[in-house]
Amino acid sequence: MELNTKQYFKKAAEGKYAIAQLNVSSADQMKVVARVASELKAPFIFGTSEGESGFLGMKQAVVLAELYAKETGVPVILNADHTKSLDKVKEYLDAGYNSIHIDGSLLPYEENLEITKKTVEMCKEVSEDISVEGELGRIGGTGSSKVFTEAVEIKKEFMTDPKQALEFAEATGIDRLGVSIGNLHGISTVGEPKLDFERLQELNNILEDKCVLVLHGGSGIPEADIKKAV
Ligand SMILES: [Zn+2]
Repeated sequence: MELNTKQYFKKAAEGKYAIAQLNVSSADQMKVVARVASELKAPFIFGTSEGESGFLGMKQAVVLAELYAKETGVPVILNADHTKSLDKVKEYLDAGYNSIHIDGSLLPYEENLEITKKTVEMCKEVSEDISVEGELGRIGGTGSSKVFTEAVEIKKEFMTDPKQALEFAEATGIDRLGVSIGNLHGISTVGEPKLDFERLQELNNILEDKCVLVLHGGSGIPEADIKKAV
């Protein structure tokens, strides 16, 4: 896709707004997302997990995203959400994705660093414009949506450590960092996730010149907390 995704994130950071990622697994979902974004005149991200892109088709997702970018006139980013291997990264790049999220957060730190660094290199070889997201710390829940019927507490030791985040961002050259600040994937029926805003502020301060921050698990976070996080 011929889009400079990095510019959009830079503009968003300067303008102090966030870009929403909506995960999609079918053409009709993409149509709805594009229509709403077009009405709002807001840039947006189509996200596909490995499962979602497997169902939809990577090339199909690229063609549709390009079409909607043209049709809506708003910036469209197509992100490979929670990619777990370099083989998959290559597949996404070959298909034409303009954003890759490499998720090595379940790997030991050194291995996460290595796979993320390699992903940045692979993306650069294709185009300087491809935005790469790394992930550090453990976000509750899995990549797919879940309903939690028991309270889920994200322990402090699983949350993203600001000093380690800086080291990680500098060593890998990522454009975005998915952070763990109490957020979780899925929706809880027993209370809302408690975000650690102090940690978020610290992460933002320390990473300001390095990368933008990504908040995963937005579906289960109350609107007021999302606004506050932004
Ligand atoms: Zn996620």
